[in-house]
Amino acid sequence: MTIRLYNTLTRKLEDFHPLEPGKVGFYSCGPTVYHYTHLGNLRTFLHNDFLKRMFLANGYDVRHVMNITDVGHLTNDEDDSGEDKMEKGAARDNKSVWDIAKFYKGEFMRDFNDLNMIAPTVMPHATDYIAEQIELVQKLQDLGYTYEIPGDGIYYDTSKFAAYGALTGGTLSGNRAGARVGFNDAKRNPSDFALWKYSPTDTKRQMEWDSPWGVGFPGWHAECSAMSMKLLGNHFDIHTGGEDLSRIHHANEIAQSEPITGAPWVNTWLHYSFLLDKSGEKMAKSKGEFLGMDAVRNRGYDPMVYRYFVAMGHYQSQLAFSWETMDATAKSYANLTRRVADLLASDGKPVNQGVYTKWHDDMLAAMSDNLKTASVLVLVQDFIKSADIDDATKLALVRFADDLLGLQFIDRAQKLRALENETAPAEIVALAESRATAKANRDWATADALRAEIENAGWSVLDGRDGYKIVKRV
Ligand code: AMP
Ligand code: ZN
Repeated sequence: MTIRLYNTLTRKLEDFHPLEPGKVGFYSCGPTVYHYTHLGNLRTFLHNDFLKRMFLANGYDVRHVMNITDVGHLTNDEDDSGEDKMEKGAARDNKSVWDIAKFYKGEFMRDFNDLNMIAPTVMPHATDYIAEQIELVQKLQDLGYTYEIPGDGIYYDTSKFAAYGALTGGTLSGNRAGARVGFNDAKRNPSDFALWKYSPTDTKRQMEWDSPWGVGFPGWHAECSAMSMKLLGNHFDIHTGGEDLSRIHHANEIAQSEPITGAPWVNTWLHYSFLLDKSGEKMAKSKGEFLGMDAVRNRGYDPMVYRYFVAMGHYQSQLAFSWETMDATAKSYANLTRRVADLLASDGKPVNQGVYTKWHDDMLAAMSDNLKTASVLVLVQDFIKSADIDDATKLALVRFADDLLGLQFIDRAQKLRALENETAPAEIVALAESRATAKANRDWATADALRAEIENAGWSVLDGRDGYKIVKRV
C-alpha cells in the first residue's frame, strides 16, 4: 500500500520510499527526564506510536530509536544559556541528578505503558553515549566547523554550513536571539550553538566528564546526532519530534551530522503539532504547572480515553485539551467498548473474508495516508453500526483496528464482560428490587435515591425493555 507522509524538509506530502525495501528506521527525540511528562509530550509520543503501527500493519520491519535526555538540555534552548534542566530538577526535588533521571524515566515508562505504546527497539540515554558525542565534536573540529568561547565551551559555527536552517526555510542570520536578554554575544552568529560546555568554575556539577577541551558536558543537540548515527547509521528514513524542535534542535542536528556523513542524513522529517492548554498556549513543562497522566488517572479516566482523544486529531493540527472533551471522548470510548463486548460471543465463528478485506484495506489506507487516525475511527464506528456485517467479521475488524490504533477495544470489552457477569450481592439486588417497586408506583424520588445508593456501592442498574440489569460500575 502507498504510504504518504508530510515531510517538513520539502514541505510536501510525499510517497514514502524506504532506504531498504521492507524496512524502516526512525529516530524520535524523547523526553528530558527532569520532571513528569505532560500530556503534550505524550501526544507527540502517541503519534510516534501511530506511525510505528502503520508501518507494522504494512508489513515493515521497524527499527525505532528514542532517546532519553538526561544531561545538557539547558533552560534556554535558544542560545544555550541558563541552567541544565536536570541539575535544576535535582535541586527542586532535593535529590541527585542520577536519582531524578531514574525516577522520572520510571514515571514516563509507566505512562508510556498505560497508554499502550510499543516499546522502541532501543532507548539510549545521553549519558551512556558521552564518548560518541565527544567523537562527534572532535570530527566537527577536524572539519573546521567549531570555535571556542573561552570559559564557556566549544561552539558550532553555523556560517560554515551553507544549508543551515533548511528544515524551516530559515536563513543564517534569522531572527534568533537578537533581542534576547542574556544573549551570548561572544557567539559569531546568533544561530551558533554549544557542542561542549565547560563546567562552571564556581559550582560543582553533578554530571561532568573529561574531554579534549576540558571538563564539562555535551550540548543537548549533540546527543541526537551521535546516538542516531550510531544506532541507525549515517543515512536513515525518518526523524520525528514536536513542532518546537524543527527550528533549532533539528536544524542543529542536521548541521552537526551532514558535514560528517557528507550526504543527506535523514530522508523524511515529521513534526507533530502542539497540545494546547486551556488558555490556548503550548502545554509546557517549564511553566511549572501542567497536566500529566496522573491527572487523567486520578479523575478516573481509562488512559485509553486520552489515547482516543489524541487519535481524534491529526498530527499536523494543534489540539486543545479540555476535561469537557475528555468527558465526551470517554462516552464514545465506552459506547464502542460496550458494542464490542456484544461481539465477543462470536469469537471463533467464520469471518466473511470479502467484507473483512474491504474494511481492513480502507482502514489501512486511511492510516497510510499521512496517519489519518480520525478517519480510521470513523470507519470503526461505521462497521460496528452496520447492519450488513456479521458479528464475527466485525470482531476480526476490531482486532485489526486495535493493531492500528492501539486502543485496546477487545481487552476493555473483555473486562467489561467479566464485570457484567459478576453477580451482585443480595443487598444490592434488594435495593434494585425496591427501586423497581418505587418506579412501578411512580415514586421517582425514592427510585432516584435508591439508584444513587446502588451507584455509591459500585454497581449500576441498567433499565431495558425486559426489566433491569445490575452491572458492576466501570
Ligand atoms: P522534552 O521532554 O521537553 O524534551 O520534550 C519531549 C517531546 O515532546 C519533544 O518532541 C517535544 O517537541 C514534545 N512536546 C513538548 N511540548 C509539547 C506540546 N505541548 N505538545 C506536543 N508535543 C510537545
Ligand atoms: Zn533530539
